[in-house]
Amino acid sequence: MNDVKFNVFSGGTVTIDHARCMKCATKVCVEVCQTVGNGFILGLNEDGLPHLIVDEQQVARGACVEDMGCLLACQIKGENAIIFDLYMPEYEQALKELEEKPVYMRSLREN
Ligand code: SF4
Repeated sequence: MNDVKFNVFSGGTVTIDHARCMKCATKVCVEVCQTVGNGFILGLNEDGLPHLIVDEQQVARGACVEDMGCLLACQIKGENAIIFDLYMPEYEQALKELEEKPVYMRSLREN
């Protein structure tokens, strides 16, 4: 199984876990990427799994706009297969200072 992993402009990475995608009936990440954001970088490969349809270097130069539409859609209608690992130290610090996790993070990677 070849997971999808690519660098984005902010310096972080995005990973898509194909083992989870195999169980996904919606493939909503691709729909969102192609219709909601400005990225248009994801498509389905010959196995029906999401993959990059744009050169990785173009993606790293900003073709992925990092709007996280795919991430949210996957959490809601997919199989929670996408991990954004972005370098945001101020945000990470602010999260540590919260008394409880924000709602959107409560189910992250816990299922
Ligand atoms: S929505 Fe999520 S689980 Fe479904 S194909 Fe896309 S990344 Fe994979």
